[in-house]
Amino acid sequence: MIRDPDTLAAFLDSVRRFVKERLVPAENTVADTDEIPEDIVADMKAMGLFGLTIPESYGGLGLTMEEEALVMFEMGRTSPAFRSLFGTTVGIGSQGILIDGTPAQKDKYLPLLASGELIASFALTEPEAGSDAASLRTNARRASDEHGEHYIVNGTKRFITNAPHAGLFTLMARTDLNNKGAGGVSAFIVERGTPGITIGKPDRKMGQRGAHTADVIFENCRVPAANLIGGKEGLGFKTAMKVLEKGRIHIAAICVGVAERMLEDALAYAMERKQFGQPIAEFQLVQAMLAESKMEVYAARCMVVDAARRRDAGENVATEASCCKLFASEMCGRVADRAVQIFGGSGYVADHGIERFYRDVRLFRIYEGTSQIQQLVIARNMIREATR
Ligand SMILES: Cc1cc2nc3c(=O)[nH]c(=O)nc-3n(C[C@H](O)[C@H](O)[C@H](O)COP(=O)(O)OP(=O)(O)OC[C@H]3O[C@@H](n4cnc5c(N)ncnc54)[C@H](O)[C@@H]3O)c2cc1C
Repeated sequence: MIRDPDTLAAFLDSVRRFVKERLVPAENTVADTDEIPEDIVADMKAMGLFGLTIPESYGGLGLTMEEEALVMFEMGRTSPAFRSLFGTTVGIGSQGILIDGTPAQKDKYLPLLASGELIASFALTEPEAGSDAASLRTNARRASDEHGEHYIVNGTKRFITNAPHAGLFTLMARTDLNNKGAGGVSAFIVERGTPGITIGKPDRKMGQRGAHTADVIFENCRVPAANLIGGKEGLGFKTAMKVLEKGRIHIAAICVGVAERMLEDALAYAMERKQFGQPIAEFQLVQAMLAESKMEVYAARCMVVDAARRRDAGENVATEASCCKLFASEMCGRVADRAVQIFGGSGYVADHGIERFYRDVRLFRIYEGTSQIQQLVIARNMIREATR
């Protein structure tokens, strides 16, 4: 936690300048090459971005959820591929260890994650288990031999962000084969070098070039029993849901930042572009698109800050986190669509970057729970509350 408001303001200012001066100018190159330049990654590490939410005692910045959201508002103002590299570690990759890890697991891994030495992936989705994540089939069978207690892991994980770069996977696998539901799942820390792991070819995606996903295949992969998160079997799905609850506020904050950037670009274009002898910003139908977007971005920003503050205060924000993810990601899609419309033909061709954002933000409605899954979570929680 950054207790002093001036220090927080200075940090946010440094992130804002980093985005403006280093990341925005590199957006096109990253999209063209599908790679984030090494010097930018080094700068991200030096700024402490990989350790945003890891406590100071482990070498991180120990930001609260609200502070993390404020940073993500700034980071959203450029290609979301930059965020994906460190934000996956911060948002979901490291959180299983942080929330439910044993003291020994925290001591061993959190400092390496905070410095960016290790990049973490979160491996839940499988070819046959997407929205229905609790039906996952990857299995971990406990065994023991002269080398000690361990688990033998077999299965395939799909669409795993940062898999080609990850040094560590937070892996959800079934330890109780007789329990086909959530209670049979455990969470593990799996180091990349462990024999029996193969990373598939990076997926060819619609957007967010520079951020990479791939299958992760486990074949008789031997994971030390000491890497069972929390040291207990059967708690892995709960850990994953706690991680995603926090991740949903993080993603919603990014949606706000990207929407603000697209709106700023659309406003500048509308004020400059002339048709019928006047700037298109003078036309009320264009103004309606700007105003609708401004209203929605503002609403999403307020929601994110409120949910983050409540989580920091120790409230259960499962419903609010899903509300934020649902509203902010759908809002971001609508703002992207209006921004393309305001740019007209220039919004459809690559020159202004708006079509790139339009493709990039489509993902926000899909990962960390689709919009339909957020709706189910919200309604189920409402019904549960009402029947208490
Ligand atoms: C670029 C990218 C990065 C990703 N990163 C990660 C990652 O790092 N780690 C990870 O574990 N996963 C990751 N994912 C996976 C992502 O979380 C899943 O794709 C997502 O949860 C949806 O699962 P699915 O693709 O299998 O779709 P499905 O579950 O097959 O859903 C298809 C459609 O059916 C709808 N649907 C499904 N069930 C219901 C229902 N009960 N009611 C109403 N509608 C329903 C969905 O909303 C969707 O519209 C990533 C995906 C992508 C594309």
